[in-house]
Amino acid sequence: MDLLEILRTLNASHGPTGDEGGVRAAIRALAEPLADEVKEDALGNLIVRRKGKGPKVMLAAHMDSIGFIVTHIEENGYLRFGRLGGLSAIELCATPVRFANGVKGVVCLPEDADPKDLKLDQLSIDVGAESAKAVEALGLDLGDTAVYNTGLFTTGERVVSPYLDDRIACAVLLQVLEALKGEKVKNDLYFVFTVQEEVGLRGARTAAFAVKPDYALAMDVTSTDDEPGSKHTSTARLGKGAAVKVMDHSVLCHPQVVQKLRDLAAEGNIPVQTDIMRSGGTDAGAIHQSRKGVLTGGISVPCRYIHTPQEMADRRDVAACVDLALAFVRAELPAL
Ligand SMILES: [Zn+2]
Repeated sequence: MDLLEILRTLNASHGPTGDEGGVRAAIRALAEPLADEVKEDALGNLIVRRKGKGPKVMLAAHMDSIGFIVTHIEENGYLRFGRLGGLSAIELCATPVRFANGVKGVVCLPEDADPKDLKLDQLSIDVGAESAKAVEALGLDLGDTAVYNTGLFTTGERVVSPYLDDRIACAVLLQVLEALKGEKVKNDLYFVFTVQEEVGLRGARTAAFAVKPDYALAMDVTSTDDEPGSKHTSTARLGKGAAVKVMDHSVLCHPQVVQKLRDLAAEGNIPVQTDIMRSGGTDAGAIHQSRKGVLTGGISVPCRYIHTPQEMADRRDVAACVDLALAFVRAELPAL
């Protein structure tokens, strides 16, 4: 499966946090032919299994994205919205958006807004409707959700797209599944596409409880230290390889898992770097505290401009993440 093809397919699906049905169906269609068993749980996590006799290994990538939820419809047809996950006002001005039913709009701000002090409450979505009645005629209502309607392009090895957080890691999981096609797997593998990560790792919590993994890896993007004005609160850089998570604000990765990933990278000549994020969490935060505890680590794709309408990653890093995740699921892991 081609990385860009997968990203285009997932980006065309609707999947803001809490409303992941569209993106789940798209991932299920791609994963099902490569699976021994596929399940969806009550919250909507998609759990794709490759059966093995060894320890249970769970790889988690969240399929939800940040987005918008309509909270008020003005008489003049403008839609006021709340945030689903980490939307930031300054990054949203003039951003094109799309609702589940295909209606498109643009985020607009009042003429007199002070960019230095911009709040989300000042913004609205203009869907081109002249009145609240016209909004209704478009099939839109309170509680409807929207996502960025920006596109994907490449420049050299870099890919620029909305929602690389975390569809790029969903693509990594799909490519790992594809690489394992026809292989008799040693470990008992669970590829979990989680819901509601962006509002507090909610899906990962119930998925980990159900799967009962011995080992887990959260697959996500990580912020980078190579953007203009970086404050050096994170360590990863674009193009320097798969980022082996040591810590983020939700987890201190298990030293045994960190070491195993580094050893596998050295053995397989896979480029890796250290991933430390002082703020921000991942599904690892929920998984490692599940039941009596899970040996948890993470493999991250370095990503610039996270949560903006155009995020950037490097395809060589993505390939390294696939190689490293594959090495981990194939590894001899001590039974616990
Ligand atoms: Zn994420």
